[in-house]
Amino acid sequence: MRTVNAIAAPSATEPLVRTTIERRDLGPRDVLIEIRYAGICHSDIHTVRGEWGPISYPQTVGHEIVGAVTEVGAEVARHAVGDRVGVGCMVNSCRECVNCQAGQEQYCLAGNTGTYTAVDRDGTITQGGYSTHIVVDEDFVLRVPESIPYEKAAPLLCAGITTYSPLSHWKAGPGSKVAVVGLGGLGHMAVKIAAAMGAEVTVLSQTLGKKDDGLAFGARHYYATGDPDTFEKLKNTFDLIVNTVSAPVDMGAYLSLLRLDGTLVAVGAPPEPLPVQVFALFGNRRSFAGSSIGGIAETQEMLDFCAEHGIAPEVEVIDGDAVNEAYERVLKSDVRYRFVIDIDSIR
Ligand code: NAP
Ligand code: ZN
Ligand code: ZN
Repeated sequence: MRTVNAIAAPSATEPLVRTTIERRDLGPRDVLIEIRYAGICHSDIHTVRGEWGPISYPQTVGHEIVGAVTEVGAEVARHAVGDRVGVGCMVNSCRECVNCQAGQEQYCLAGNTGTYTAVDRDGTITQGGYSTHIVVDEDFVLRVPESIPYEKAAPLLCAGITTYSPLSHWKAGPGSKVAVVGLGGLGHMAVKIAAAMGAEVTVLSQTLGKKDDGLAFGARHYYATGDPDTFEKLKNTFDLIVNTVSAPVDMGAYLSLLRLDGTLVAVGAPPEPLPVQVFALFGNRRSFAGSSIGGIAETQEMLDFCAEHGIAPEVEVIDGDAVNEAYERVLKSDVRYRFVIDIDSIR
């Protein structure tokens, strides 16, 4: 075991504080990563505040992790000391169920092992990336392309894959009209990726305050959802709507914007239900779907896609001591467009 510096939530209601946590000794297939940057995902906030259900404290979160390999177990074949690597939202799965066999480890029927708050194989609770080091099974470690700077690579491990996966599954591309609801961490990556895939992208944001940014990220159109005319104007328009909003919004209003056989995919994860009237689905034979992160192979594909297309998140790098302030700004939708913690600040 090694003791490493970290930032943890002592409870659901107190600010995060500096602390130390334990990392296990390397098993034969484990990789030790010296973490350089960790992104702040809105899921970190839902989790530490107990919004998705009770968790045990103290808890270190963070599942947008990048750094360098500093040690490998005896049987490690995929990674070597010095490699630039990343870890996303899961660190293990059963590997045997039909979904794992299909490369969809995020949908492991036994439940994937989350990077934080999950019960690890040794019975301990997994602790996330707001820390200086992490030990991870090599199969759940991704290669970070040389052309993507570390701090910009971090958010790809959750915000990137969570938007790439549904865009790819529902075939965003030339000729398709895609709307992205909410221009935050996930939303801005959805815009960049969908545009790179060749889709005609529209941003649906609460106000027009970030319009210039949205258009610069590759959107062709930008509308304020606070303006009721928006929903009238855009009726029956989109093939795919990706909803990244962290709070409950009126699904019926967004479903009405889908054209024939269109799909509204929920990736935003408010704790409250999102009620739907079936009649909103009957018209245009619409679908209401959900999507959770992405598989390991698909995450590698997304990293390589972003490198190839020169896409990277917009990040604001902060010191570890600024995490609580960053959380407050995320909650106010005052994020441009992902906070990333410089882990050297807690080393
Ligand atoms: P974020 O950076 O806070 O972005 C959310 C955006 O939603 C905000 O920027 C804002 O966009 C909009 N918004 C916030 N509150 C709103 C409200 N009350 N009404 C309407 N719009 C509102 O969060 P994120 O990190 O992108 O995460 C977004 C959600 O996805 C979270 O719930 C997170 O837990 C979830 N998530 C799910 C997965 C998955 O696997 N499915 C993975 C990662 C995250 P505008 O200012 O443009 O309106
Ligand atoms: Zn996340
Ligand atoms: Zn499985």
